[in-house]
Amino acid sequence: MTISPSALWDDDHTRRVTCIACGETVDRGDAREYDKHGERWDREDKAFEYLCKPCDRACCHQPRDGLERTLVAAGAGRSDRRTFLRRYCELASADAEPGEES
Ligand SMILES: [Zn+2]
Repeated sequence: MTISPSALWDDDHTRRVTCIACGETVDRGDAREYDKHGERWDREDKAFEYLCKPCDRACCHQPRDGLERTLVAAGAGRSDRRTFLRRYCELASADAEPGEES
């Protein structure tokens, strides 16, 4: 009996995932992982979110100081959308002090 290493990946690659930016459903293999905690390599007990390739390309890959922290603090993925957006706006405007960019 032989198990080809690729068989281990099949499940992952045939899964359909939803892009968190545009809502498009794409094959898992065509999507990019997005970890809102920014610790992509710490995979234990993680559920990744996904971006389709066009959205991933459209993303800014420069460091986003504090954005992830703000999203997490606002309850991204844990609160309902309305609650999250309200909290996010509060946090984002509280953070938007002039002269904070380096
Ligand atoms: Zn997309």
